[in-house]
Amino acid sequence: MSDKPEKFIDENGLRLDGRRVDEIRPMKMEIGVLSRADGSCYLEWGKNKVLAAVYGPRELHPRRMQKADSVLIRYRYNMAAFSVEDRIRPGPSRRSTEISKVSREAFEPVVLTHLYPGAVIDVFAEVLQADAGTRTAAINAASVALADAGIPMKGLVSACAVGKVDGQLVLDLNKPEDNYGDADIPMAMTSDGEITLVQMDGDVTQEEFKQAIEMCKEGCRQIMEIQKETLRNKFTKLDDVEVPDEDEDVDVSALVESTLESSEDDVEDEEEAEVESEDDTDQEEEVEGGDEDSVDEDESESEDAEDLDSVELVEDLEESFTDVDEEDATDDEDEDEKA
Ligand code: UDP
Repeated sequence: MSDKPEKFIDENGLRLDGRRVDEIRPMKMEIGVLSRADGSCYLEWGKNKVLAAVYGPRELHPRRMQKADSVLIRYRYNMAAFSVEDRIRPGPSRRSTEISKVSREAFEPVVLTHLYPGAVIDVFAEVLQADAGTRTAAINAASVALADAGIPMKGLVSACAVGKVDGQLVLDLNKPEDNYGDADIPMAMTSDGEITLVQMDGDVTQEEFKQAIEMCKEGCRQIMEIQKETLRNKFTKLDDVEVPDEDEDVDVSALVESTLESSEDDVEDEEEAEVESEDDTDQEEEVEGGDEDSVDEDESESEDAEDLDSVELVEDLEESFTDVDEEDATDDEDEDEKA
């Protein structure tokens, strides 16, 4: 790691990388870069390189993890072992677990989760090269990947950090500012300025915090323009795609049904093999306001689903979200064995 610089901002008000205090690093995005994902985005922001992939909505297995009245969003932030100077040990860590959790929560207020009860949307954010601000970079890429996957959202989410160096607030920290600065405040927000993520490392005054929010809003506004431009570029190229007539009514519920039906077909074999564990059936409280029928046609399994407690389900998830892939794989293997 390089040594702490004597000064972060020179006499002309410029930072070590030549930016002004309120300037973000150059950002570029490419959409639809992965053919197997439902939506994807590759982002370069300064020296950060991040790939985001979205899968779903698809039916969630194992079923005990399903939410009766909404889709489950899973978000996995991961740094590649080679993404930083010192090799990172592969697999989840405290840091990646925390970032995955807060990033998932940054999207929950904007995704129209009630449209896909019992389903799951998986978001994978892979940091290929890290240079400060990777959690915000991942959120920006994931936001575009979600839109690319056609996930219904109230709007895009954009993210940026504000920090403090040499007693001054700076937008979008570079590596030395992140490592040696006095504060680091990553935020995510919607186009309406609704904050969906805020974290703080270090100290700022109340006044500085308010100022930081305003700086971040401006940074996110610029990022959102880049995100929108990326999406526009892709979708204006799709001239040959069939678009329904303006007069034609689009039946949203039929669209939702057909999406879930197609994902049900994909997992038909797994459904047959599924066996609920005794622990799960011990749970007593009923799921309220659920619409199990939309994802659960088997009557006996419906009864099992009604026995589940949604609070416990969420707790289950919180415990297990760190390593969802491995857990899924293990569960599926267990179920296969039992079957
Ligand atoms: N970093 C690193 N090794 C790690 C974690 C982070 O070298 O195990 C570097 C990486 O460049 C990252 C920066 O430290 O971007 C700042 O990390 P932080 O935890 O503040 O998260 P970020 O700013 O990337 O969201």
